[in-house]
Amino acid sequence: MPDVFADLVGQDEAVAELRRAAAAAAAVLRVGAADRPPALITAGPADAAESAPTAGDADPGGAAQSAGMTHAWIFTGPPGSGRSVAARAFAAALQCVHGTGCGECPGCRTTMGGTHADVRLVVPEGLSIGVSEMRALVLRAASTPSGGRWQVVVIEDADRLTEAAGNALLKAIEEPPPRTVFLLCAPSTHPDDISVTIRSRCRVVPLRQPPADAVAEVLARRDGIAPDVAQWAAAAAQGHVGRARRLARDPEARKRREAVLAVPRRLTGIGAAFDAASALIEAAEAEAEASVTEADTAERAALETALGAGGTGRGAAGAMRGAAGQLKELEKRQKSRATRAQRDALDRALVDLAGFYRDALTMALGAPVAPVHTDTAALAGAGAQKWDAEGSLRRLEAVLACRAAIEANVKPRIAVEAMMLALWKG
Ligand SMILES: [Zn+2]
Repeated sequence: MPDVFADLVGQDEAVAELRRAAAAAAAVLRVGAADRPPALITAGPADAAESAPTAGDADPGGAAQSAGMTHAWIFTGPPGSGRSVAARAFAAALQCVHGTGCGECPGCRTTMGGTHADVRLVVPEGLSIGVSEMRALVLRAASTPSGGRWQVVVIEDADRLTEAAGNALLKAIEEPPPRTVFLLCAPSTHPDDISVTIRSRCRVVPLRQPPADAVAEVLARRDGIAPDVAQWAAAAAQGHVGRARRLARDPEARKRREAVLAVPRRLTGIGAAFDAASALIEAAEAEAEASVTEADTAERAALETALGAGGTGRGAAGAMRGAAGQLKELEKRQKSRATRAQRDALDRALVDLAGFYRDALTMALGAPVAPVHTDTAALAGAGAQKWDAEGSLRRLEAVLACRAAIEANVKPRIAVEAMMLALWKG
């Protein structure tokens, strides 16, 4: 039976550090059970957390044993490298009755299954995590762990915290309740992603983009995907484990990718460039809609039931007046989630397209690296001949500039049209 870290692909160093920390955390609990309430060392300002605590500390048992463990962590790495997988696995190891993340005990199983009472997972669905959500979370995280181990709060996409939410979180991290552990995930520790003050209180676990071979291996072993399909999907997904799995399994995802990779040969004139822009935007919208519609409908039905829609008793009229406000709030959240899903879908398409022009560039340079998209390698080769390295690079840069513009809140249609024109003109 593989343990909870088995799905962390190509991250040996990070896994070793997390195993040490889980063992140290288990030791803290043992010391605590023996004589006093356990406590962790609060991570310093600056980088004190990365060095061991000084010997001769007033708390020889607890302090020495907690050297590998701390209250607040940030998992960084490119999308798909497994930030949230790492955070969840570590949460499971903290709740593991053996302190190892065995993958079999109730603590491991419920954490991995998302049902552990002391593990809270924040997955932002909108474009940012708001302050009220964060305050409520921090408050609940301060309670005593019901399972007797740790309260763990996992915040996926901590880079999407609003400033106010970040401040609420910072307060909790600065004066953490003794048994609470915060696990943050962010693309990097750049101040744009995570505030300097939060970062200074956290230990950083950097994850790298896993090599295609490692991704292919895990797809074959864990998901039972045929090795040749796994190899193709791992390369096409450019180190993004979740994307590789979707490509290997979901024919719709493959179709969308093929449509995106057909863009370069369709750019035959200005009209075609605008058509290609529309097609790309509309495909992203359709994909996003398919992914959120079901959840939207279910949420609305659940809220209406909770609000007693159709009730006729005394007070029903007053309840419905309050309900209108709650439904409006729900609609706002759903709209924000839809926008986010559209951007994510569009970004995936742009990453695929960037891969194509990267292939053209490496071929023009004669670089001895495997192509990202083996199935369009011939087309990229033709592009390389026509455009040379310089023209290929300009096109690659146009795709990357489009991603950056959308990230900076330029209207997606405008950014994509500008990109298509640049790709056509070269
Ligand atoms: Zn376990």
